[in-house]
Amino acid sequence: MASKYIASVDIGGTKILGAILNTEEGIVYRYKRPSVANAGDQAFIMDLADFINQLMEDSGVGEDNIAGITLGVPGSVDIENGIIGMAPNLGLVNFPIADELKRRTHHEVFIENDVNIAALGIHNFGVAQGRKNVLVVFVGTGIGGGMIIDGKLYRGASSMAGEIGHMHIRTNGPLCGCGKHGCFEAVASRTAIVRDITTLIKKGKSSVLKEKLDQGKPIKSKAISSAIEGGDKVAKKVMSHACEVIGTTVASINNLMNFEMVVFGGGVLEANENYMLPKIKKSFLQHSLPDAAKVVDVVGTRLRDDAPLYGGIPLIKEYLGIDL
Ligand SMILES: [Zn+2]
Repeated sequence: MASKYIASVDIGGTKILGAILNTEEGIVYRYKRPSVANAGDQAFIMDLADFINQLMEDSGVGEDNIAGITLGVPGSVDIENGIIGMAPNLGLVNFPIADELKRRTHHEVFIENDVNIAALGIHNFGVAQGRKNVLVVFVGTGIGGGMIIDGKLYRGASSMAGEIGHMHIRTNGPLCGCGKHGCFEAVASRTAIVRDITTLIKKGKSSVLKEKLDQGKPIKSKAISSAIEGGDKVAKKVMSHACEVIGTTVASINNLMNFEMVVFGGGVLEANENYMLPKIKKSFLQHSLPDAAKVVDVVGTRLRDDAPLYGGIPLIKEYLGIDL
């Protein structure tokens, strides 16, 4: 029986998920709480270290049985040096997260972009097992991508590959968290969807989501999902547009790369998978080269929130050379 586990953490724009797991037993303990975003570097790292220490302690597996900590980060990462380059949704720039966390948790820390680590999880443990060329697209607070090429995670020259959310798709488009205008995620992420729903409601369009706006409450993925199930025209219109944009953009990427599977996940997509996936697929097929599109399976992640957590296992194997 395996005696070692990893502590795997996925830092989202709104929540942190953590798990203690290994291959044989799967996830033996999990923990989740809201993330501290845009409160400054110190508040962020103290909260994250506290989260991880709590996760390890409450799991009961014993500190000595933790082989290492893995982190999925929503932004660009320098994986060799354990530095977050830019994470707009967390308000972090050039932040040496691995060293800061190692000092506070006394374990080795390995970081990876959140969708890259999810792609590792999906490729090793999920729906893309055994596939060689796979694109993973997560639509949530932002939009991220991860690419498995010839059976391996493709990171590019400086670990920046897969940042599909910042592909420029619209001239004079909306402002993105990265500071530029017209990025894919500024047009079709949950943040963009909520912005567009808000704009229509403020223009006087009738929607069940108006109540949340009037109360100053955030519009979350599940609220959008309920609105769509209830036939809300504003929510359906904005979501349909987002699906069209996601389908066309992913078709362009696939025309370039010729994948055999495209896996869609992320908060807003998972909450609305039955509505979004068929619409994305239709737009994807319309804008793809037929010979590229006919070999592609377009699917949901199945592993959902657990995908980036499972991705920690192959990441640790890559760095420490141990099977867990
Ligand atoms: Zn951008």
